[in-house]
Amino acid sequence: KLVSREFQEQSTSFNVGNCTIGADEVVVMAGPCAVESEEQLLESAEGVKAAGAQILRGGAFKPRTSPYSFQGLEEEGLKILARVREKTGLPIVTEVMDQHTVGVVAEYADIIQVGTRNMQNFYMLRELGKLDKPILLKRGLSATIEEWLMAAEYIASGGNRKVILCERGIRTFETATRNTLDLSAIPVVKHLTHLPVIVDPSHGTGNWRWVPSMSRAAVAAGADGLMVEVHPRPEEALCDGAQSLTVEKFEALTEDLDKVARVL
Ligand code: PEP
Ligand code: MN
Repeated sequence: KLVSREFQEQSTSFNVGNCTIGADEVVVMAGPCAVESEEQLLESAEGVKAAGAQILRGGAFKPRTSPYSFQGLEEEGLKILARVREKTGLPIVTEVMDQHTVGVVAEYADIIQVGTRNMQNFYMLRELGKLDKPILLKRGLSATIEEWLMAAEYIASGGNRKVILCERGIRTFETATRNTLDLSAIPVVKHLTHLPVIVDPSHGTGNWRWVPSMSRAAVAAGADGLMVEVHPRPEEALCDGAQSLTVEKFEALTEDLDKVARVL
């Protein structure tokens, strides 16, 4: 398989903006779950940038469990992301939900995110395989590592080798956390594949309280980066407020990451 370490011994790395994903540095992607307005996104972006984040996240197409929940600003959200990138210089990562919108999302995004619910949307993966743009592939809610790597293979076999794997928690019997963050996936996946691996402790735990410790643990375990939800006012967030850090708490987290990196 193209994504296997057997096929390619050397770790894959590529540049996004000023940072290199899959190299020695830990790349931090942060921002709100959803783009709600230009003011909200700009405030988030300026806050996470000052705290050291290199990439801005924000969903414009939102895969919500309930059809009555906020579904995202769609193309207007993508335009806001592009304007905030212009103002802050931060590259953007945002989710695509179906194969018909791959084109429009690719026009705006620097990294295209495939959400956990779409990890095995094989038609969409094939479309993404035709692009020359990094794809952030989240692990399916109940996907084994083998299934996750096969999903990456769909993209790579289409010609796009720039795939970032993202562990975001899996379904287990445990209900105290939203998902069970599988930190053991980091060394296992790094052994099996040359692709970069990042961790999303926000969806992994579902509660901002557990995000800093799981971020430190992910970096200590060898993750190439993190994706963290940050909102200027989490209590007002239209999506995932309970797991979103304030900018102040996110600042404290990035300082702690530097300490972890120093002892490694
Ligand atoms: C998200 O990143 O906001 C998201 C919906 O993530 P996941 O697909 O991991 O649930
Ligand atoms: Mn979210």
